[in-house]
Amino acid sequence: MDTVKNILAKQELSKEDLVVLLNAGPEDAALIFQKAAEIKATYIGNRVHLRGLIELSNMCAKNCLYCGIRRENKSVERYSLSDADVETAFQFAIQNKLGSVVIQSGELSSLAFIEKVESYLRKAKEMSDGKLGITLSCGEQTEETYLRWKAAGAHRYLLRIEASNRELYNRIHPNNLLHDYDRRLTALTSLKNCGYQTGTGVMIGLPFQTIEDLADDLLFMRDFDIDMCGMGPYVEHEQTPLSKYNSMLKPVQERLTLTLKMIALLRIIMKDINIASTTALQALADEGREQALSAGANIVMPNITPGIYRNKYALYCNKPGINEEAEDSKKNLELLAKRAGCEVVYDAWGDSKHFIFSKV
Ligand code: SAH
Ligand code: SF4
Repeated sequence: MDTVKNILAKQELSKEDLVVLLNAGPEDAALIFQKAAEIKATYIGNRVHLRGLIELSNMCAKNCLYCGIRRENKSVERYSLSDADVETAFQFAIQNKLGSVVIQSGELSSLAFIEKVESYLRKAKEMSDGKLGITLSCGEQTEETYLRWKAAGAHRYLLRIEASNRELYNRIHPNNLLHDYDRRLTALTSLKNCGYQTGTGVMIGLPFQTIEDLADDLLFMRDFDIDMCGMGPYVEHEQTPLSKYNSMLKPVQERLTLTLKMIALLRIIMKDINIASTTALQALADEGREQALSAGANIVMPNITPGIYRNKYALYCNKPGINEEAEDSKKNLELLAKRAGCEVVYDAWGDSKHFIFSKV
């Protein structure tokens, strides 16, 4: 078998190579992180772009088996931000020169929801003279809705494939049309067709997931030619059906290392995409997000949702920052970027270079 050093010197990595790298011990893992950091410095620079995260609503029509705000979790107190809350968040992003926001929400497809999101997009553009960049993460929608939102100002969209292995996908979702693997793929393809910078990602450390699955996830993202990625560890939530498999989970430290390896390997195989250092990493370890920046990630998402709502948007347990306000989240992330040796870029969209280059 090739050594990790030899594999890292190859131009192209096979599934077998990725499996060896994902299984690498601590010393070899350090080589992987180092290689990813070099590639990031060359193709992206040691820079971090910010996306102010707005958790619009925890109302959701779906029942994903892993998610704390799934429809059937009756102990969640449901909320939708008011127009004034959303505008305050936009104002914060503009005043603090964050450059972009991410509007994320439970998945709803009513006309009222579609129109609401559309009106917020127009508002964000109006308030910022068109300057605020906007990523959406509002689940599967029709191509018509995606086009409508694009026309209103959204230019990036994040929709995770969650698990590229169809069987694993089916195991972590209810078995019905609302949670259908092919429907997910169609939605991802629609996003590309509509001209969005398209992002996807997976959860790492799911019950039943193998190292081979994770290697396939990386190849899926490469072959789908994504522009951005947001992936993070699976973090259990007690009020979900998937929590009955908690005894199968890898220990926290292992899940963290595996996530960092996934980020580093994705950077190695997709050199110029945007990769987020996700909040779930910090649920596992205080330093999780800065380690991800050192391992190849270049995007962080300070939460700018008003503090009173944060504990209600609990996708998983131990969500960090629920007692913070927008100002604290931003300051903490600035410190975090500094500790990871990265320069924070203000007042810029920080679009995916991969997307930009694919258009020229
Ligand atoms: N409803 C939208 C956006 C909100 S959910 C959607 O599903 O796309 C955003 C992401 O949270 C999901 O893609 C999923 O990967 C992640 N998530 C949900 N439950 C999680 C858990 N228990 N652990 C880690 N990530 C989780
Ligand atoms: Fe809803 Fe998204 Fe959670 Fe699934 S992952 S239940 S779609 S919020």
